[in-house]
Amino acid sequence: MKNIIFFGPPGAGKGTQAKIISDFLQISHLSTGDILRKKLNDNDNLAIELKKIMSSGNFVSDEILNSIVSSRLKNEKNKGFILDGYPRTLNQSEFLNNFLFDNSTSINYIFNIQINFNILKSRILKRSQEENREDDNIQVIQTRYEEYLNSTQKVSDYYKKKLPTIFYEIDGSLQIEQITQKIKEIL
Ligand code: AMP
Repeated sequence: MKNIIFFGPPGAGKGTQAKIISDFLQISHLSTGDILRKKLNDNDNLAIELKKIMSSGNFVSDEILNSIVSSRLKNEKNKGFILDGYPRTLNQSEFLNNFLFDNSTSINYIFNIQINFNILKSRILKRSQEENREDDNIQVIQTRYEEYLNSTQKVSDYYKKKLPTIFYEIDGSLQIEQITQKIKEIL
């Protein structure tokens, strides 16, 4: 069974790779960003609150994320899964560790896709035109990148130290197919 985490700054291509690899391995792709974007269509108070937070590029609360992920993982924990966009804070990684421990399972592969900020900026702006995402503009990109540096990078550093044998650095400036190839070789 394969349980995988993808790390990387927004726009590094982790969503693209997570999707390709989930098709390849026939396991679930849990993108917390996608799950939250779907919730925006609900038109209730939570959706209004989420929209405000997400369109500014800030993080949604750990409480909401942990509850989303645990309810989804309950169904997938025996089949394998890919986490894309979670955990992004140390609180989330602690919650995930406890969840996995309580369910007698663990993470088998971690891919950290790295890329520099200038490439990211141009990629995200291109995606904003293609997907019409409200959180893809220069100001919001800056906030999202800072959230990444201030929080998520600490989480990936923590895993790199704790689980060095399953932690793989991937060069995100390569072409999509080249990155997929590298990941498949590792798997
Ligand atoms: P993404 O598509 O992964 O870039 O996520 C889009 C937005 O959803 C982020 O900028 C956050 O506002 C929110 N989000 C997604 N995953 C998380 C998470 N694990 N923790 C907090 N906020 C999140």
